Amino acid sequence: MKAFLNGKFVEKNEKLITLENRGLTFGDGLFEVLRVKDGHIFFFEDHLLRMKSSASFFGIPFPYSLDEIKNRAHELISLNRINDGELYIELTRGVDTNREHRYPPRSTQTTFFMLAIPLREINPENWKRGAAVFSFPDLRHKLCEHKTINLLPNVMAKNFAYERGGYEALMYRENSKGKYITEGGSSNYFLVKNCTVITPEIDNILPGITRSKVIKLLKESGIEVVERRVYLEEFLSADEVFLVSTVSMVMPVRRIDDREFKAPGEITLKAMELYRDFMDKEKERY
Ligand code: PMP
Repeated sequence: MKAFLNGKFVEKNEKLITLENRGLTFGDGLFEVLRVKDGHIFFFEDHLLRMKSSASFFGIPFPYSLDEIKNRAHELISLNRINDGELYIELTRGVDTNREHRYPPRSTQTTFFMLAIPLREINPENWKRGAAVFSFPDLRHKLCEHKTINLLPNVMAKNFAYERGGYEALMYRENSKGKYITEGGSSNYFLVKNCTVITPEIDNILPGITRSKVIKLLKESGIEVVERRVYLEEFLSADEVFLVSTVSMVMPVRRIDDREFKAPGEITLKAMELYRDFMDKEKERY
């Protein structure tokens, strides 16, 4: 299996990363996960523009043009014979032997790598009968609109859910009115109440690519979608709940903590179908 690292194709299992890489010592980097199927990379521009804009926010030089990355990614996918898989892209601020917090000179070479691997195994029952999710405090910083590799609180939250037999965490923060939902460890959430779809607004959460596609598709099909602050209580008393991400696509939720839901509900099924058709169309277009 090959990987792409700083301009070259290398053996994925080769030990190539210098220990003083700021990605390792400071978590000083960004990542993206893209879906690959039948030689197509879905929503490439959306993912790469999100990474590029965060790189600019954090002052991390962006080393290649999007066309170059796309060409190399396609080469990597065919080298590894990936049919149904994931393209993982990471950009770090590179090697810094001083281990000082401040940014090193901009001439320091960034580390840019890509992995193309088969799709992770997910129990198909999660789509057929819904996933179980567990609420957990969102312990992250205030930079959650960026997809940084600082994922320890997400790792804790998802692990909490896994230990209870769940698929994903439902993270919340608290204000004077109670617990409000931010997002999952690696997904965004939606609820349906009286045929209206409601999802947490982009306020210190990742602007998910799948989230924005699903909102657009639902609106185009005449379903009302509201983006606002949403409380845990509202999720617990919803008619339907679903989560979305590149890897999970649209996945019904059948349980939050001890509360069970009818899953998949009618609007969730509609969202699943709209998203599947949209992916099929995008694949045909290229
Ligand atoms: N929130 C977080 C914290 C994530 O890591 C992800 C996965 N990238 C998502 C939401 C879903 O985003 P996307 O639809 O772009 O995969």
